[in-house]
Amino acid sequence: MPISSRSPPPAKTAARPSRPFSKSVRRISPGAEAPSFEVSMSYDDPKTHRGNCPCCTPYVWGAYPPKREHLSRRGFFGAGAALTAGMLTALGVSRAGGDALAEAAAALAFAAPAIAEGSTRRARAATGGVTVYRGGTIRTMNSALPVAEAIAIKGGRILAVGGEAEVVSRAGGGARIVDLGGKTMLPGFIDCHGHVSLTALLMGFQNLAPIPAGPIGSIADIQSELLKYRERTGGGRGGWILGANYDDSLLAEKRAITRTDLDEVSTEQPVLAYHASLHVVVVNSYALNLLGITADTPDPAGGVIRRWPGTNEPNGILEEGAISLALPRLPEVSKDELLDLLDKVQDQYAAWGITTAQDGATRRPDYDLLTLAAERDRLKIDVIGYPFFTHIDDLARGDVEVQKDYNGFKIGGIKLMLDGSPQAKTAWLTEPYEVVPPGFKPDYRGYRIVDDLTAANYVDDAFARGWQVYAHCNGDAAADQFIAAIEKATAKYGPGDRRATVIHAQTLREDQLDRMAKLGVMPSYFVTHTFYWGDWHRDSVLGPARAARISPVRSTVDRGMRYTLHNDSPVAPSDCRMLLWSATNRRTRSGEVLGEDQRISAYDALRGITIDAAFQHFEDDIKGSIEEGKLADLVITAEDPETIDPSGLRDLQIVETIKRGETIYAA
Ligand SMILES: [Zn+2]
Ligand SMILES: [Zn+2]
Repeated sequence: MPISSRSPPPAKTAARPSRPFSKSVRRISPGAEAPSFEVSMSYDDPKTHRGNCPCCTPYVWGAYPPKREHLSRRGFFGAGAALTAGMLTALGVSRAGGDALAEAAAALAFAAPAIAEGSTRRARAATGGVTVYRGGTIRTMNSALPVAEAIAIKGGRILAVGGEAEVVSRAGGGARIVDLGGKTMLPGFIDCHGHVSLTALLMGFQNLAPIPAGPIGSIADIQSELLKYRERTGGGRGGWILGANYDDSLLAEKRAITRTDLDEVSTEQPVLAYHASLHVVVVNSYALNLLGITADTPDPAGGVIRRWPGTNEPNGILEEGAISLALPRLPEVSKDELLDLLDKVQDQYAAWGITTAQDGATRRPDYDLLTLAAERDRLKIDVIGYPFFTHIDDLARGDVEVQKDYNGFKIGGIKLMLDGSPQAKTAWLTEPYEVVPPGFKPDYRGYRIVDDLTAANYVDDAFARGWQVYAHCNGDAAADQFIAAIEKATAKYGPGDRRATVIHAQTLREDQLDRMAKLGVMPSYFVTHTFYWGDWHRDSVLGPARAARISPVRSTVDRGMRYTLHNDSPVAPSDCRMLLWSATNRRTRSGEVLGEDQRISAYDALRGITIDAAFQHFEDDIKGSIEEGKLADLVITAEDPETIDPSGLRDLQIVETIKRGETIYAA
């Protein structure tokens, strides 16, 4: 497939008045259009909504009317409450306090960041001198010239690529010459789906993720990590000891952690740990006391305060709606702190070779953080945001131009979410789950989030406005819904270069890939599912046959389609080396190969984080390959990923990461 340099269709926000989505968005209510389950399983019943993707978290939060007093609070959590208000309005939910909510929503329109004139990172890069890299393997990811001897960069862009003599001559006399010393140079890696702002927020917590994503193997590890947090923060954040990403299903003890476990950390200050699903928190006794949660506290709407068996005494676990008893009481995170956390995330991404990141379900506080970072010139890597579909009206009302780069931050299009996650058995499938969750009928297939007409309306509107549209679809039924919506809109508006993308795409069928190829719809695979949840998918979620073809990348390569690979940070760390390793090896945690037939070559895996990734972002004219005129976004690795044994790809050494000609990471 030729590389297109076509620019995306212009945004039509000015010409076309905003359509009132609030009228078209309907939530599925049990008994109406929702499939019938023995246990109510719908978006309206968050108790049973056990999604495991941060994409759906705002949904869960959005299910509860915020208290009025939260609307005036400052800081992230305050903004989160205001966000909730906006979402409720967007969803057409009218409850008590609706006026205050509508007011809050009206103030939410996205606005372009005010970039200060002067010496920005980019302005400085543009005036940089010439540097020549030679003496290594330069893998360009440009099929017309796959390997080059040398490249020259100038002013943050690639000046020349090719034979050494020619490049050196074009570089001119004063060029700085860098010897790669036999190392490999590649285009900078592109994160094609993740949540950079949410990752930043969670950076403010101690990482309690299981090995290898974090340091945790047991409850004792959780306790010692939380003590480290107290140590490194000088007593905790606002007195709180905070952890995130614990996963009790992967603890040695194989049990939920409770207040008793966290009381071992402290009985004198509050402790809170966020579950990896973001749908559960656990607090210690001190925190329960501080929050006023006692045996007499009733379960809040849409939530559960877990109790010790046979008693009313809370055991510290707060689920779904009950999380809102704790969240608003957490210490506020100042803008400056958030910017510092975002710096840390960028440093981490850069250490993995990433030069462009994604904010794949941008909500209001995320937007505020990213525009502030752009205004203050704090984005050392580019970030592309995709506003969550409850914010489309904000996008239409504001003066932000889609696909316009605001000093490192741009809005790429919009993000829909059409189902849950397979690991939590909330993905919407066409065939039943291998082992259905307790209490469900044997034909349980997960569930949708919006009805077909609503999904079609979103896609129709995105086509009309010229907005690129992404849709989170883990289950094949969700993908059916999205593909049908694209078919309908394509029939109405005609074919075009729209690059609509199925995000996660875990269970795409062969016939769906055929339809997508015809429509120009791309899959973006969360391919590290084969490792993180591969055994679980085979044994409990999908059964061996369907699990063997999750993330069907080989089927996609064989069709000559474009595709990308992602980690969905913070669900999994945004380590691109894991993507290369998983796509080529497909080994589960237990070491078994899951779907040998779907393994691809290292070159094809690299495509999914370089040239095709740039294509997915409508940036293949400036990124994704080492070609004259493109940005000098580069990564240097100690080994050549195309020639080492694929089993070693997860340990590939990133030596240096270069963004617009500037070194942003050096080992
Ligand atoms: Zn998602
Ligand atoms: Zn996501």
